[in-house]
Amino acid sequence: MIETAMESDLARILVNADAIDKRLDELGETITNHYQSNGVEELTLICITNGSIIFAADLLRRINMYARVDCVRVSSYQNEDSPITEPEIIDQIRLDLTGRHVLLVDDILDTGKTLEKLVMILQTFEPQTLETCVLLEKQGRRQCRYEATYVGFKIPNEFVVGYGLDFAERYRNLPHIGVLRPELQNPPEWQ
Ligand code: 5GP
Ligand code: MG
Ligand code: MG
Repeated sequence: MIETAMESDLARILVNADAIDKRLDELGETITNHYQSNGVEELTLICITNGSIIFAADLLRRINMYARVDCVRVSSYQNEDSPITEPEIIDQIRLDLTGRHVLLVDDILDTGKTLEKLVMILQTFEPQTLETCVLLEKQGRRQCRYEATYVGFKIPNEFVVGYGLDFAERYRNLPHIGVLRPELQNPPEWQ
């Protein structure tokens, strides 16, 4: 394959496309079995855009049961009084969630704030069940006690791009997950 400028921005690959593919087969099977063995007929998948679009699209096609899909857009804003960024929903879910089996999908669990906040908001719609699935879980970064139900890969505390994850909106289309060369990483806007 030709080494493109985009590819050469990576210092190294953390998870290659084959490994992602295999792990998604496992996740799809685990999730399908879990719901089917509990007599669930239909799942409602809520994807957090933009980071999870590629993961969600690939996972969805491995979930072998009826599934409805919607997206939620979340942003973090810089609170003027503190450096802490708080996630906020900026585009609402349109599907009804009440009494449904909801699976919330995100790209990466870092501090855990995004999932914790979203789970709190989704609970107000009173779904019958609410579980979460993340492609990546970053080690040693959690700031809240939230744990995802399903995790693709545990990774070290490094800023990663590819397979949906961006840096300044680039690299989402890389087929693997990698670490940018340090000189390209000046203070990352991680949302
Ligand atoms: P949390 O709320 O768990 O701290 O952050 C989750 C969000 O931060 C993710 O959905 C993702 O958008 C962003 N994020 C966290 N770590 C990384 C990373 O290593 N790379 C990229 N591209 N985004 C990240
Ligand atoms: Mg995100
Ligand atoms: Mg981002």
